[in-house]
Amino acid sequence: QPVIQLSGITKVYEGEGDAEVHALSGIDLDIFEGEYVALMGPSGSGKSTLMHILGCLDQPTQGSYHLGGDDVSQMGEDELAQIRNERIGFVFQAFNLLARTSAQKNVELPLAYRGVGMRERSQRAKLALTRVGLGDRLGHKPSELSGGQKQRVAIARALVQDPKVLLADEPTGNLDSKSTKGILRLFDELHAEGRTIVLVTHEEEVGARAQRIIWLRDGLISDGRPVLDDDLDE
Ligand code: ADP
Ligand code: ADP
Repeated sequence: QPVIQLSGITKVYEGEGDAEVHALSGIDLDIFEGEYVALMGPSGSGKSTLMHILGCLDQPTQGSYHLGGDDVSQMGEDELAQIRNERIGFVFQAFNLLARTSAQKNVELPLAYRGVGMRERSQRAKLALTRVGLGDRLGHKPSELSGGQKQRVAIARALVQDPKVLLADEPTGNLDSKSTKGILRLFDELHAEGRTIVLVTHEEEVGARAQRIIWLRDGLISDGRPVLDDDLDE
């Protein structure tokens, strides 16, 4: 059974006046445990929209989404918030860390939200930060870390609850090429450990690291079949 199963997913946004934007037009997609998937496609093709639905940050207009066998497309906001917190690790392009808070406290947040006690929180946050190579930066605030290190903190935060899937929306979009390489190596390692990873990218170098590329175009999927290179220039 796939860990992610989308069936007939559509997303329609209300536009100006009567205009509607069909951001996704009937997406069927299975992603299996341990897969490393890159979502690619031109700007406006629906990558962010699909990622937000996968991350339970947004609900589809129609269709069903099963995560680990549970139909999350039927869930209300409270249940969704719980799924987001416990079963999905989400990594953003802009890191989304609390600025005045240490690396360790940032990573503890999802656990604190769930009511995990202080000692266990601290232990698990340290473990996650060590895993991403930041065991010696526990007390550093984001402003005291490089871009690549900030993204590592965000990845540690995403991993701290051992989620079903790690989702990443342009995770290297704000990084220089050296930091990008480090983050890609980390994703390779996490994949080798058996994690399921889905990332959005428009960088071919990044997409090439994945096992499987899913191409989006005008809200539709073509699995494994590339669109023209010209279309990838944003
Ligand atoms: P991508 O991530 O591939 O650039 P998006 O998912 O951001 O694509 O956008 C897909 C389409 O949906 C685009 O036409 C975009 O303008 C539109 N869109 C995305 N978000 C919204 C929104 N909140 N309201 C209205 N239209 C949106
Ligand atoms: P990125 O390319 O970094 O994924 P986008 O520019 O596609 O970012 O979208 C940034 C945010 O703005 C997203 O949350 C998306 O849903 C929203 N958005 C995108 N297009 C529109 C639009 N036409 N109207 C309103 N919101 C939009």
